[in-house]
Amino acid sequence: MKIKRIDQFSPRPRTRLIRISTDIGIDGWAESTLEGKPKSVTAAIEEYSEYLIGKNPLTIEKHWQQMYRSAFFRGGVHNMSAIAAIDAALWDIAGKHYNVPSYNLMGGKVRDKIRVYAHWGLQDLSDESKSASKERLKHLSKLGYTAYKSGPPGLWRAHEPPSRIDEFVEIAYTLREWVGSEVELCFDFHGKMTPALAIEVCNEIKGMRPMFVEEPVPQENPEALKLVSDHVTFPIATGERLLNRWEFREVIQSQAVALLQPDVAHCGGPSELKKIANFAEIYYQHIMPHCAIGPLALAACMLVDSVVPNFLIQEQVDQALGNGLLKEDWKVESGHITLWKKPGLGVEVDENEATKNYNGPEYGYHAELGGETYFKDDNSVADW
Ligand SMILES: [Mg+2]
Repeated sequence: MKIKRIDQFSPRPRTRLIRISTDIGIDGWAESTLEGKPKSVTAAIEEYSEYLIGKNPLTIEKHWQQMYRSAFFRGGVHNMSAIAAIDAALWDIAGKHYNVPSYNLMGGKVRDKIRVYAHWGLQDLSDESKSASKERLKHLSKLGYTAYKSGPPGLWRAHEPPSRIDEFVEIAYTLREWVGSEVELCFDFHGKMTPALAIEVCNEIKGMRPMFVEEPVPQENPEALKLVSDHVTFPIATGERLLNRWEFREVIQSQAVALLQPDVAHCGGPSELKKIANFAEIYYQHIMPHCAIGPLALAACMLVDSVVPNFLIQEQVDQALGNGLLKEDWKVESGHITLWKKPGLGVEVDENEATKNYNGPEYGYHAELGGETYFKDDNSVADW
């Protein structure tokens, strides 16, 4: 079997896919979306195609090593996202070739179903927001979710007055009151705060017992993350913007956080995500892979979630369950997705939909990340 061609598609806003075709008719699919960077990963995959075409798709680890090491300049989010998509598509091909779910080729599953959380919260304390929030909670509760994530809305300065902090704290306690103590609630600070402000806010919400706070500060400085962790009683998480084992090394070894959130579509794919998880296992850290994109990225996450012991919970957004790209959507039942029995990554892509190319108003650098609005009230640049 040889790789015959690699095609790329952009069928929805913030959705880019690759299809690796072989000379014996087996295709592998994966997601190559890098939010806000619609063209650069596509270009990187085109460059790697020159190396991959004509090669055996089953030597996955060798291709990973070639793409990561042999090109001399290493890492970077565009490069690692391109490697990630190719790696996931090759795992899909391997599973289909051997006619087994790809997890059988990664040591076999250690669990039967994957616990997932949904995005749900409360934008502000107005009656309108409260009733919209309760409506969504009603819908999600029927699917049996046992964990939800939201975050402090808006932009944050290095410090904020008590009223700003208090509003978020009240939101957090309101959510707890609504769901009771059987459900877990977590918050993504999106790296918008300074260590001092994050510690203050975390200590204000600790009484409502969050599951974790994600990216209280940006991911670039593990010592700043450790400072927060050392002053907070519940778990701190990070990792969606860390790109491979070497970028995770200090966060893991210094135990700067308790929970790791590699993004399978940016960290080098399932091959690398598994290695990050195995490394973290030594420190009793658990993975909760980041997945804010589509159903193929979710499949690639669940491939690894199914084979490592130190998996806690999987992120997914509504569009990750299908978004019109699959013949059969992922189903959430009792807050879990049951592992697939189909060969490969367990999804059958609807090729009529997946091979379309979207070029509407939500396409492009600014539109994909919500517009050019990230300035504080003094017109200085704010974190996203
Ligand atoms: Mg996040």
